[in-house]
Amino acid sequence: MPTLLGIPFDVNSSYLRGAAGAPAKIREAMCGDASNQWSELGVDLGAAGVFEDAGDLQLNDTRAKVGDDFAEIERAVGELLEKGERPVSLGGDHSVTYPILKAFARRYTELTIVHFDAHPDLYDEFEGSRVSHACPFARIMEERLAKRLVQVGIRTMNGHQRGQAARFGVEVVEMQALPAYGRLEIHGPVYVSFDMDVLDPAFAPGISHREPGGMTVREAIAHLHAIEGTIVGGDVVEYNPVQDVSGMTATVAAKILKEVLGKMMVER
Ligand code: MN
Ligand code: MN
Repeated sequence: MPTLLGIPFDVNSSYLRGAAGAPAKIREAMCGDASNQWSELGVDLGAAGVFEDAGDLQLNDTRAKVGDDFAEIERAVGELLEKGERPVSLGGDHSVTYPILKAFARRYTELTIVHFDAHPDLYDEFEGSRVSHACPFARIMEERLAKRLVQVGIRTMNGHQRGQAARFGVEVVEMQALPAYGRLEIHGPVYVSFDMDVLDPAFAPGISHREPGGMTVREAIAHLHAIEGTIVGGDVVEYNPVQDVSGMTATVAAKILKEVLGKMMVER
């Protein structure tokens, strides 16, 4: 069963902190009275037993204890996987995907990651850190924690990261190449990593790195729905309540989460 796990963690953010406050806000938006609990694919997420919520992790969220926090994230996700659950985490900055994938790699050897993001997050190191939120997919590919990495919506590619993508065999679908539904016909288990900044800041201003020229909410949902293969887990990261405008982006994050969960349910 899909199981939510809140990861209130933002110390690996390079520019603005605030994403640690995301899990509570996204839950609040998802369960609020402004909308109903049905996903567009016809799944009632308000019905009992459709998904579970494992609550939020207790983390230090300090530079000195990043190693401890990563170990705790890996442990908690591993525990859910051992129970046969499909963890969907609410970040937090994007650095959390690295310890999450360490746990997934122990269970799935043929995993494909579908990564929605304005940024490739493939830096070997960023501002002196190898665990920055600009680096998780370099670590994941170096350690072969996934078989394939398909990135969708990228629009900040630079020379270094293009080199990294080539080195790791990353399948990059840049924003300018969308729509690209055919690139999401995947066989086997799929992990969906959804960085909220893949959306145009007009739709989702509550993020740390606003990068214009992004997806509409509709384009993102259409690409999520187009994924083939079995979604065994995922994350929604980089929502930053400090940057939000009257809770708009929390509503969008909750919508994306609902569509991810709905997609997981119809595919069972
Ligand atoms: Mn990212
Ligand atoms: Mn990003």
